Amino acid sequence: VARNPAQDEFHQAVREVLGSLEVCIDRHPEFLDQKLIERISEPERQIIFRVPWQDDNGEVHVNRGMRVEFNSALGPYKGGLRFHPSVGLGIIKFLGFEQIFKNALTGMPIGGGKGGADFDPKGRSDAEVMRFCQSFMTELYRHIGEYRDVPAGDIGVGSREIGYLFGQYKRITNSYESGVLTGKGIGWGGARVRTEATGYGCAIFADEMLKSTGGSLDGRTVVVSGSGNVAIYAIEKVHQLGGTVVACSDSSGYIVDESGIDVELVKDIKEVRRERISEYAGEKAAAHYVAGGSIWDVPCEVALPSATQNELAEADAVRLVKNGCLAVAEGANMPTTPEALHVLQEAKVAFGPGKAANAGGVATSALEMQQNASRDSWSFGYSEERLSEIMIDIHRRCAETAEEYASPGNLVVGANVSGFLQVADAMQAHGLI
Ligand code: NDP
Repeated sequence: VARNPAQDEFHQAVREVLGSLEVCIDRHPEFLDQKLIERISEPERQIIFRVPWQDDNGEVHVNRGMRVEFNSALGPYKGGLRFHPSVGLGIIKFLGFEQIFKNALTGMPIGGGKGGADFDPKGRSDAEVMRFCQSFMTELYRHIGEYRDVPAGDIGVGSREIGYLFGQYKRITNSYESGVLTGKGIGWGGARVRTEATGYGCAIFADEMLKSTGGSLDGRTVVVSGSGNVAIYAIEKVHQLGGTVVACSDSSGYIVDESGIDVELVKDIKEVRRERISEYAGEKAAAHYVAGGSIWDVPCEVALPSATQNELAEADAVRLVKNGCLAVAEGANMPTTPEALHVLQEAKVAFGPGKAANAGGVATSALEMQQNASRDSWSFGYSEERLSEIMIDIHRRCAETAEEYASPGNLVVGANVSGFLQVADAMQAHGLI
């Protein structure tokens, strides 16, 4: 804490992982001798840079951009870029740290990194977003590459932003290096199912959690927070698997639609019109909108928090338990506070941590890199099949590791230990670097 002041989210993420490693460290005392914990918690490299840009009125703005290249033991750094006013080193380091273990869990050859800027794309014109992205990439380009560091999207960075970033990279480097960014458009090097992958993967993971105790998502009432990329496709897949999503949200409030959220309407509002989720209630008679408040007040059997970090607090967990919630799978990164997690675990609610449940996005990004490297383009059906296999395998790995490390059923321990062991083994093999 003294070494990394004012980085609360990063401390929280490290504590969460270390809290799972006791048995693992007992069995591998050599990790302590080699200071594996200290080394893995220290980024290999942190880059912070100025991003000047001009708005449509000619006013000059200066934002702060960053990229934390956390760990390259398993492959090039891989992780998204977040554009949000709350972005600072504490948030980017927490996300980068989580990403190391998540990427290991996918079984793909990718290291961990994360980046972003304290820029708010909300309310900005396409031209302003383009100018910002071009300025951001004018510095970032020298640090990334197909074999070095491969960014993708995250909050505030979707296909529009990836397009502008890729265009500027291509222009500066004078090369068509498709594998330098993932989340690209299908017509110019993108992979099918990448847009859907995180949300689809989260729903598939939740289904696996329920199947392990003899149930499934079929017939279940589900609440999904957020209405961005992850939330939209989690809703779509839950419906395909027979569940009904009755509520979703944005940072202003939530909508309830007992007849089942109309995902096409949400896509139109959020992806096409870029409006607020409150619009939904005006266009669907069965729905109502609640300004502010907590979406976790809405009773459900399965909860998929898919908005942002620490959005599900202790009081929310108490309400979920009271309303008979059976399972929580994290679509977002670290949306559940430690206190809320404790409540859920005490009540024996099945819990899928983000680094396992939302790993489908980065896994499909690795498939995009694979397609770019072989100059190939796979069909939607084949890509979805691969995603499904990967999610089922991650769930199996987490469950088996939890069992092996004296915590049967605890997927938090399973995910942390499994991811940690894979990275720690590779770091040991590479020597003291
Ligand atoms: P988007 O920007 O597409 O959507 C974020 C959504 O969350 C928006 O609906 C936003 O509402 C809402 N939101 C943000 N902050 C809050 C808040 N404080 N309270 C309630 N709602 C809020 O981002 P993504 O869907 O891509 O990302 C969501 C989460 O999933 C993040 O934690 C991200 O790190 C994680 N993730 C994303 C992956 C991906 O492939 N995209 C991969 C793995 C994890 P508003 O519009 O009002 O801001």
